[in-house]
Amino acid sequence: MKKILYVSLMFVLLNLLTITVALAQIEELHMSMVRDFGYGGFNNDIQGLFSMKVTGPADLARVVFYIDGTVIGEVSQAPFNLQFITDNYPLGQHQLYATGFSSSGQQYSSNVIHSNFVPASEGTKTALQIAVPVLVIVFGAILLTFVIPLVTARGKTQDLPFGAERKYGLGGGICPKCQRPFALQLFSMHLGLSKLARCPYCGKWSAVRIQPLVKLREAEKAELEWGRAEVQEKTEAEKLRAELDDSKYQGL
Ligand SMILES: [Zn+2]
Repeated sequence: MKKILYVSLMFVLLNLLTITVALAQIEELHMSMVRDFGYGGFNNDIQGLFSMKVTGPADLARVVFYIDGTVIGEVSQAPFNLQFITDNYPLGQHQLYATGFSSSGQQYSSNVIHSNFVPASEGTKTALQIAVPVLVIVFGAILLTFVIPLVTARGKTQDLPFGAERKYGLGGGICPKCQRPFALQLFSMHLGLSKLARCPYCGKWSAVRIQPLVKLREAEKAELEWGRAEVQEKTEAEKLRAELDDSKYQGL
């Protein structure tokens, strides 16, 4: 019976102790940090505009904020928040904490937050520093592959005799509009297996397939055939005109 009483007493005492400890914890200040603008990374790396937020007992009247033992600000009414800019402090490890005072003068201390203040280049600027060169490259590529050939080739058409042997360099294609073969530009936009190219002879834009040299030479020969046909047409036309002229003269 004595033993049971002893155990019960111990149980009550332990409970009381737990409650006291819990109360003591509630009475202390709790500090958290919020990023308002900037960068928060691994290893507690921070850069930018941050807020220390303190919560504590209901009668909390005043909170003093510290960075490494130096007072950086005081707030005397709820919410007990204080903004600070990391760039205003030396780079590296810092200890952030707060001390609070109740209306009756009771003092409380907060937990300590460890932060590593990093330079802006490691923080917010990083995204921009990556994005800008990428954009420059992308727009540069668009300019090279599309705009420049469009501008430089505008209006100009080449005149090359039919059947002339060309140098195709990086690859040639056959114009689907006029059937003449031509060398494709290095900087031209790809459309699957084709390239967007402007025929230097007829001046029309089309998706031109890259053709093997054999096909290109065949196309050159084919031109020769049209050449002959054209010459023949011309001579026939001239003959006709000559005849007409003759008839005119005869008529006179
Ligand atoms: Zn053409």
